[in-house]
Amino acid sequence: MEAPPMSKARLEGKVAVITGAASGIGEAAARLFVENGARVVIADVQDELGEAVAASIGGPDKCRYKRCDVREEGQVAAAVAFAVEKYGSLDVMYSNAGVAGPAAGIMDLDLGDLDATMAVNFRGTAAAIKHASRAMAAAGTRGSIICTASVSATVAGLGPHAYTVSKHAIVGLARSAAAELGKHGIRVNCVSPFGVATPLACGISGCDAAETEARTAAVSNMKGMILKPRNVAEAALFLASDDSAFVSGHDLVVDGGFTVVDFTCNIYK
Ligand code: NAD
Repeated sequence: MEAPPMSKARLEGKVAVITGAASGIGEAAARLFVENGARVVIADVQDELGEAVAASIGGPDKCRYKRCDVREEGQVAAAVAFAVEKYGSLDVMYSNAGVAGPAAGIMDLDLGDLDATMAVNFRGTAAAIKHASRAMAAAGTRGSIICTASVSATVAGLGPHAYTVSKHAIVGLARSAAAELGKHGIRVNCVSPFGVATPLACGISGCDAAETEARTAAVSNMKGMILKPRNVAEAALFLASDDSAFVSGHDLVVDGGFTVVDFTCNIYK
């Protein structure tokens, strides 16, 4: 017997908040989530870009922009309340906003810069998990919380020290939150991308998008393909949807095998 066709609308009726969705991976996820039937709140600090992206995705019936600096807990809480007010519920929180921060060596590490990176990447994620899980638990929603970590949560030397630390911390917090929120039916997972030529990655490489892609491709384990924001968004879609209904506490690495291959001793290279 032929398998029934997979439903295109994997998020039909669901409401998502995506932080850092005015650009890059978050923007691709906003587009893909709406294509799959979700209504999405883009929570970011780039007002003009965020408004334009929301309009290009379909306007207020499908997608709205809400200014939200994830360093400010009150603004994260307000973004969650905005989603519930405008669209009636919160089913998915995709905590994705991030910064690379400066690339100083450990002997010259500015602890203020360390705090600044942690404030966006880690504390912003903590606020997102806190306020999303409150809203979900209060409504009895079996929600999905997704956090963008990175291959830098597994392998060192790919990004600045504070960035690497923040991404390790995100995976730890997602696991810890998953340990508590399972009793509410709320899942917490991470998506950990390899290099994607977004403004953030170009900031780390110091190159334009084409050169950043070329450098990333040169060290990639998965040849013949360049990782795009849409590929990462597809992994987030899986974790957002009921296709992953029993998946929690997981770090879904989207890296073509990069973090499990030893490039110096690989006998198959
Ligand atoms: P990007 O620069 O395109 O997007 C980052 C977004 O976060 C921007 O829209 C920015 O305005 C927003 N942002 C920054 N500070 C914020 C704040 N305080 N409050 C709210 N929003 C804020 O870069 P991207 O690569 O799409 O980054 C998305 C996530 O992916 C980040 O967490 C990043 O660490 C992670 N990541 C990226 C790569 C990569 O190679 N691009 C690899 C692994 C992980």
